[in-house]
Amino acid sequence: MAYQSVKGTRDIFPPESSAWIHLEQRIRAHMDRAGYEEIRTPMFEDTSVFARGIGEETDIVGKEMYTFTDKGGSSLTLRPEMTAPVMRAWLQHSIGERAMHTRLYYIGAMFRQERPQAGRFRQFHQFGMESIGLATPECDAEVIALASDIYSDLAIPHVLKINSVGDTESRRAYRTALQEFLRGVADRLSAESQRRMETNPMRVLDSKAPQDREATDGAPHMLDFLEGDTRAHFDRVLALLDALKVSYMIDHRLVRGLDYYSRTAFEFVSDALGAQDALGGGGRYDGLAEKLGGRSTPAVGFAAGIERLLLVLEKQGHNVPPIVPTVFFIGMDEASRQWAFEQTIAFRRDGVRASCDLARRSLKATMREANRQQARFVVLVGESEMASRTATVKDMGQGTQESIAFDALAGYFARMHT
Ligand code: AMP
Repeated sequence: MAYQSVKGTRDIFPPESSAWIHLEQRIRAHMDRAGYEEIRTPMFEDTSVFARGIGEETDIVGKEMYTFTDKGGSSLTLRPEMTAPVMRAWLQHSIGERAMHTRLYYIGAMFRQERPQAGRFRQFHQFGMESIGLATPECDAEVIALASDIYSDLAIPHVLKINSVGDTESRRAYRTALQEFLRGVADRLSAESQRRMETNPMRVLDSKAPQDREATDGAPHMLDFLEGDTRAHFDRVLALLDALKVSYMIDHRLVRGLDYYSRTAFEFVSDALGAQDALGGGGRYDGLAEKLGGRSTPAVGFAAGIERLLLVLEKQGHNVPPIVPTVFFIGMDEASRQWAFEQTIAFRRDGVRASCDLARRSLKATMREANRQQARFVVLVGESEMASRTATVKDMGQGTQESIAFDALAGYFARMHT
């Protein structure tokens, strides 16, 4: 074979592409009901949008970005996530001057140079939402409830884990206490965590290595360091989730990988996924606008992997309804073949899903093709039907057939369509 798709990327063929369309439509309907409007940003940005926004110490910026220098000498990066680009666009277009609160959502491809495995790709897709401009706990709860409702609507079993990563001050105090604790158990930590302990101690908590988890069992909890407003904010978010009947688990290890989070951090996981069990995650990121050179702006958001959603749906055997041609026209000689072709186009123009044979195959082979396309009706026309201007219509589901006058076909299918 001459060429293969690049490692970690996939081609999506029918019928899988129908599942994607179906899923995207469901997501859009939820977003629309909640007043989130779509934003589309470029596939690449100046590297510094991510380096500054997400933080140099993170896995994404440190190891996973597709960064290249273009012919003009600019350093550009394929987007590994959408929160920094959305905030960049929001600032660039001064959206905040026109509205105190902006609700945006996106669906699109992201790029990270991770080691490919089940549920992990180098080009993958996310949907997500960003609620920008307000610091109220209602915004956090709205985003979390919306994400949870999308999973519930799709019958995806999910568990919501939640924590607070505090504000700058409480995090600094926590970081010191955590570092002190980690130094005490350093000899039991993995090499990676021993290194992280100094640079990004909070990340040691979400290490998956069993030895790290054991060693950090007694680590101090971020929640014990929250004070005043930050504590009240977290309690209120939980109270709102209770009121909305969104169940959650407090997870003291949840710190999220990105630097820009503050206060609420959350993640949805699913048992059905295996090692890569994260369905999606998000949190409040009040510090991001400032990092990108804007004025301080509160915001909260969520991002979810689409491949992982589809993986769970597939494992559960959910069938996405195939997109089928409703009516398949078959002409049995030259004149009726042209009639079939004209009817196909005419019915399509009238909004009916219609198909016909373009390969001049035998009747038997054409019927096979109609079956392959899961046609609901087959309209058969030959010399005698052309003369009497009456078609033989087979209902493929029922296994019945009847004669319908050409003039009555449109009305017949319009009735059947509903
Ligand atoms: P993150 O921005 O890392 O929190 O990612 C949000 C969600 O995107 C994750 O929970 C996954 O569902 C999905 N995701 C992240 N990285 C990948 C990847 N390399 N391949 C597939 N899905 C991913």
